[in-house]
Amino acid sequence: MKKRDVSKRRIRHRKPVWLLLPLLSLIFALIISFWVVNLYRGINPIFPAVSEETTEVFSNDTQDDDAQADVPWYLTLVNRWNPLPKDYDLELMEIEGGELVDKRIYEPLMEMLDNAKAEKLGPIVVSGYRTQEQQQSFMDEKITSYRKQGYSKSKAKELAEQWVAAVGASEHQLGIAVDINGATYDIYLWLQENSYKYGFIFRYPGDKTEITGVAEEVWHYRYVGVEAATEIHNQGVSLEEYLENLN
Ligand SMILES: [Zn+2]
Repeated sequence: MKKRDVSKRRIRHRKPVWLLLPLLSLIFALIISFWVVNLYRGINPIFPAVSEETTEVFSNDTQDDDAQADVPWYLTLVNRWNPLPKDYDLELMEIEGGELVDKRIYEPLMEMLDNAKAEKLGPIVVSGYRTQEQQQSFMDEKITSYRKQGYSKSKAKELAEQWVAAVGASEHQLGIAVDINGATYDIYLWLQENSYKYGFIFRYPGDKTEITGVAEEVWHYRYVGVEAATEIHNQGVSLEEYLENLN
């Protein structure tokens, strides 16, 4: 008697499970379609994109600048975690060679270049202000070149981002950063020793990559004013660390 009861109960319990099947497959289908839609939109919930913060930078290339409201224009922080402030104001001026810079850095920049010239270092500004569109096309070119070398789409993007700042994350869009070339490599040694006197800093040293988010760039100089530049030079800190200490 007891045995029969148990088997009856088992049979009764199985029925609802079979009834649940259509419901379970509906839920499964919903999960799959949600995943596919997100994949299509580039937001993969299972395997997050290589650099999520960069994806964010692309989708909203300006930030609410409350966080930086109290710093002067020449201390504005722009990196992969701090995109270009909303409505950033600047007036541009053309320099020798045709590049544009914020007119407020024109004089100190010319003074620095003149003194480097006097040392026979042949300095030349090869890149100054960049628009959002120019920054985007730099990025596209770099990705394309990695794709041509056979890298996957996501790997090519990851590699490109090690060399080119994402749109909204480049100091060149501020107009107060310049890339300088010279007749010989000595220009970079001279700049590392002397640029602070004119208010410029060696922005991306190799030992600060973790903090700046950018691999070493010996040619990239950024204006921060003489006071900050002197302190950054003397203390051997990055701009990020300097600003952190200010707070
Ligand atoms: Zn640069």
